Amino acid sequence: MSPANILTLALSKGRIFEETLPLLEAAGVEVKDDPESSRKLILETSRPDLRIIIVRATDVPTYVQYGAADFGIAGRDVLYEHTASHPGGLYQPIDLNIARCRLCVAVREGFDYHAAVRQGSRLRVATKYIRAAREHFAEKGVHVDLIKLYGSMELAPLVGLADAIVDLVSTGNTLKANNLVAVEDVADISSRMIVNRAALKTRGLLLRPFLDAFSRASTEA
Ligand code: AMP
Repeated sequence: MSPANILTLALSKGRIFEETLPLLEAAGVEVKDDPESSRKLILETSRPDLRIIIVRATDVPTYVQYGAADFGIAGRDVLYEHTASHPGGLYQPIDLNIARCRLCVAVREGFDYHAAVRQGSRLRVATKYIRAAREHFAEKGVHVDLIKLYGSMELAPLVGLADAIVDLVSTGNTLKANNLVAVEDVADISSRMIVNRAALKTRGLLLRPFLDAFSRASTEA
């Protein structure tokens, strides 16, 4: 558990951290370190009652669920996979509308995905997002063998590991650089605030002002 009078917020480096900074600012909080240049994993803030821990995006729900962080910010993609193995464990009060992107099916340029689907071919699909991919293809009645990867999904169709990938697409630059094209949307993604259920009960007085400020700042943005 985090110390009794200090709140712990779990964030991941990169887009989520950067897009959370303005929300923290709106709540009157300045972060004292930059996780891109510092190796510190616990960052102090201008508020003595709030610290930030830097963890992998996929670990944010785990830290919050077990109470090592009181609250955190995680993408809908990550939360969907996490709740498959931990249903009902997290309170998700606010869609912050940050780190927006799309979860897409993508293939090599020149691969006729729609023809393959029409012909009922069995497709090999590489992804980090097994649950989202399984449900997407099941709904469409497409037969797939899913291959779990942990990163660099774009490589899989290029070296014959898979016919397609399910991955996040923001600008589309990564797909383009690897001669891949998006052929189908799976879901719109943005990041949500998640809160430890026990912390909400026992430390609600500390937490509420932050939840309210984040909520106001994200709807105003
Ligand atoms: P882009 O080239 O802008 O389309 O970004 C695609 C790459 O960034 C892929 O490797 C994605 O996995 C990753 N990515 C894009 N948006 C996000 C996001 N909101 N959160 C985490 N990763 C992302």
